[in-house]
Amino acid sequence: MKSTLPIAPAILSAHEDKFINLIEKYERQQKIHPTLLITGLDGVGKRSMVLQLIQKLFCDQPGKSLEACGNCKSCKRALSSQWLDLYWLEPETGDDDTKLGTHKIEAFRELKTKMGLGPMEEPFKVVVITNADRMTLQAANSILKTLEEPPANWIFILTATDASRLLPTILSRCMEIKLRPLESREVYTILQQIQGAEFQSSKARFASRASEGSISRAQYFMEDETWKVRDQLLGFLSNPASEWMKLIEQLSSSQRALQLSLDIIESLFMDLLKSSIESDYAWVNEDQKEFLLQWQESKKISSQKIVEVLTQIAEKRPFITLTLNSKLLAQESLIPILGML
Ligand SMILES: [Zn+2]
Repeated sequence: MKSTLPIAPAILSAHEDKFINLIEKYERQQKIHPTLLITGLDGVGKRSMVLQLIQKLFCDQPGKSLEACGNCKSCKRALSSQWLDLYWLEPETGDDDTKLGTHKIEAFRELKTKMGLGPMEEPFKVVVITNADRMTLQAANSILKTLEEPPANWIFILTATDASRLLPTILSRCMEIKLRPLESREVYTILQQIQGAEFQSSKARFASRASEGSISRAQYFMEDETWKVRDQLLGFLSNPASEWMKLIEQLSSSQRALQLSLDIIESLFMDLLKSSIESDYAWVNEDQKEFLLQWQESKKISSQKIVEVLTQIAEKRPFITLTLNSKLLAQESLIPILGML
């Protein structure tokens, strides 16, 4: 199992309503649906909710909320990988450890040989299959029969970003729990709880508003590089001619730098666009509000022009992971902005 962040209480409260019925029924009947599927965008807290649910199922201190005690022997064991009643199946990762691979059939074969072996320490055995939408067809077919007729007292918890990518036969066996994207204020509180003493409110305000409801996306925007790139982009908007070469050099240094800069450009321009439409709009780049409005006014940039540039940038995005010439792509992505100045 991958290392996990401490579970922020705000993640639990954001999604608690989705689990309460399940927990109440479990407290009453000591029974739970044997194949659960937790779905939601990347970074809405699926892993935290799985961990919490496991703790709740095994916790020695029953109670009618989703929160487990976190301190009993069972709660502590649920967070460690050293527990025979709990299996985590994760997709293999790619060579660079960043790209997510697929679930291979071998892991499921191994699981099947373990099933039925050994006495149970707890009333249940739990199998977690993360990113279940990344099973190869072969792997999906091999686990299908097990999910159709799970062994007595075994619970399968699957997670997926995109439920439509699961085999319909698997989907129909599962009770789906859909997690919604988080609200910006929830993301802000979660960042505060995760980061503790390192929390910086101005960065978190920006990151939570830019997060699109995802904690992982907010964390991506919390990194120092984000602020460096944003300063460069703001410098470019003020002095395009003198900053152009330096900016292109920097943006083409990695796929990530280019990705990040397009994300930031979008957030800057979306601020201008949305604030012109919604009177109570909460700016993502609140600290740059005055600069951006002045810039737009002095360059006489219409909303129509902003929409055009955003569209052109969106068209370049799919090429970021494909291009062999990142410098050319960086230039092509930023030229529409030069054109508007
Ligand atoms: Zn406990």
